[in-house]
Amino acid sequence: MGTIIVIGLGAMGSSTALHLAGRGHRVLGFDQFTPPHSYGSSHGQTRIIRQSYWEDPRYVPLLLRAYELWRRLEVDTGQSLLHITGGLMIGRAGGDLVARSTASAERFALPHQVLSAAEIRRLYPAFRIDEDWVALWERDAGYLHPEACVRQQLQQSVLAGAELHFNEPVMDWNALPGGGVLVRTARETYAAAHLVITVGPWAPQILRELNLPFSITRQVVFRFEPIGSIDLFRRDRMPIYIREMEKGQPLLYGFPLTGPDSEGVKVGLHGSDEFCSPDTVDRAIRPADERIIRERLAEALPLLGGRLLHAETCLYTMTPDEHFVIDKHPEFSQVTLAAGFSGHGFKFASVLGEVLAGMATDCKPAYDLELFSARRFKDVPSFRH
Ligand SMILES: Cc1cc2nc3c(=O)[nH]c(=O)nc-3n(C[C@H](O)[C@H](O)[C@H](O)COP(=O)(O)OP(=O)(O)OC[C@H]3O[C@@H](n4cnc5c(N)ncnc54)[C@H](O)[C@@H]3O)c2cc1C
Repeated sequence: MGTIIVIGLGAMGSSTALHLAGRGHRVLGFDQFTPPHSYGSSHGQTRIIRQSYWEDPRYVPLLLRAYELWRRLEVDTGQSLLHITGGLMIGRAGGDLVARSTASAERFALPHQVLSAAEIRRLYPAFRIDEDWVALWERDAGYLHPEACVRQQLQQSVLAGAELHFNEPVMDWNALPGGGVLVRTARETYAAAHLVITVGPWAPQILRELNLPFSITRQVVFRFEPIGSIDLFRRDRMPIYIREMEKGQPLLYGFPLTGPDSEGVKVGLHGSDEFCSPDTVDRAIRPADERIIRERLAEALPLLGGRLLHAETCLYTMTPDEHFVIDKHPEFSQVTLAAGFSGHGFKFASVLGEVLAGMATDCKPAYDLELFSARRFKDVPSFRH
């Protein structure tokens, strides 16, 4: 097989380049910046990884393989990338978050326990928990270091023979009628046998003609100083967590203390409907961003109401059903796409690189990828931005 081009070398593209080069393929990768960088979706020092997937149990086989591949990357690089803290999915008894997480945990026999309100309060006293609340505790949840993961995937792919061009934006690409592709960058035009497109929140631009219903949204993450002792936020008293909020409000998620005490404790709200594009997003932090997160913390985690130490913006690429798009281009079988990770893709990057490498080289996928088909949106008119 001839050269395979990967456009976008963030979480997904760096992993794809690694798996392709590792299988002996000639790989040419392009990124408009030098990843890891903070303009896309893969920055901010931590990403949750978990297995009891409330979004759909069909993600679980991918997740189990993702853990194996993150651990393999740690062994190959000598770097510590994945930290297990346990995880809590907290919500009303009978509510979706706990019920669906528990269903995935039971179906795949994942180590877990359902905790009562009293047990949550005793084990994790920082949370404010009402009497009728419960939690699914998952043993193997934790967090990844996204910048380090991307950096290591890139370095390993170069060691395996990939040729990576940074600061070389792709302007456009064309599928050739007899097979193969031409990719035009700001510097040159390159020919290849196959193209993999993993451009994160730039997908609506580079896949313009497909008109997939992606919406790019502005997200803000925060690091707060706790009120009083920071000890309740150390890893022995605080796992990663996702917590239901009042009806219709985004989920609150967060981490234990993951760095020095002076960096504070990271929290965020999963989802905002402030539509933007990577070029138009307002990256400044506004008083309203801080006011909203403080209101949610007062409800759920009042001890995290100290000084705001840091805040930054990041981008989600949402699909209408919040499932990924991982598919061959509907018209050109020599083009593979992966986008629309809807704010929960990072943990999968290790395995999706393997999946995308397989798709680009016509191997039969080892997983059910129907959930991620681009064709499911054929009747959805257009994306919002
Ligand atoms: C605040 C926040 C919190 C999140 N939390 C979690 C979490 O806890 N757990 C989890 O699993 N997921 C989480 N996610 C989601 C996850 O981080 C993303 O799904 C994932 O990082 C997407 O990776 P990507 O490779 O698609 O995009 P990116 O890593 O952004 O990579 C896209 C790359 O394409 C390049 N590119 C774009 N256009 C071009 C072009 N024309 N030419 C050349 N290069 C180009 C860009 O420069 C960029 O480097 C979170 C996301 C955000 C924003």
